[in-house]
Amino acid sequence: MTSGGAQARILIVEDEAALADTVRYNLEREGYSVAVASDGRRALDLFRTDDPSLVILDLMLPELSGLDVCRQIRQSSNVPIIMVTAKDSEADKVSGLELGADDYVTKPFSVRELVSRVRAHLRREDMMDGSAASATFTGGPVELDPIRHEVRIRGQLIAVPPKEFALLQMLLRLKGRLLTRDHLIAEVWGGDYFGDTKTLDVHVKRLRQKIEEDPHQPVHLVTVRGLGYRFLD
Ligand code: CA
Repeated sequence: MTSGGAQARILIVEDEAALADTVRYNLEREGYSVAVASDGRRALDLFRTDDPSLVILDLMLPELSGLDVCRQIRQSSNVPIIMVTAKDSEADKVSGLELGADDYVTKPFSVRELVSRVRAHLRREDMMDGSAASATFTGGPVELDPIRHEVRIRGQLIAVPPKEFALLQMLLRLKGRLLTRDHLIAEVWGGDYFGDTKTLDVHVKRLRQKIEEDPHQPVHLVTVRGLGYRFLD
């Protein structure tokens, strides 16, 4: 993966030509190289030949649906996928995330917001590809060192039980990204999850009490209603 995002290749899958052009223009201005596919089949062809660093995927497409494209890409690749959904398609959103999309924007969206999401996802990929030397995860007031198994909040070392630690590490590692409840539960508890889904909420609540200035109005460990959680700086 290229550093700083320059020359990273982005595949836009979008059948509305005017919208695709606007997004392309704004991404190219940021130094990205961009390809556009206007239907699902062409998207999969381009994905194979172009090997993009990130995919922006509209869900409502001719030929193959965006969900089919997402599913097929995920069979062979972990490339970041940002879905573009219509305003009311909550079901599509959930299916897309379950099929492995990393993030979504809802139409009509701000192009600036989309570009900043692209940048954030590519930076994260860089970091994950990069050296294990920078072993510390940071986010907001939190620093987490997975090797020493230490958490500092505003510089203060604090004790964090193992499941909370694992949950926090996952949220920080994928900072900015929406993590669905199912995904978090599977990753943090795996086969050990015998409780009801409240267990996750309880752990989130305890983490908020440690991290947030006001645990009732969280600004770092935020809820994405009906879907899951996201960690923000
Ligand atoms: Ca469309």
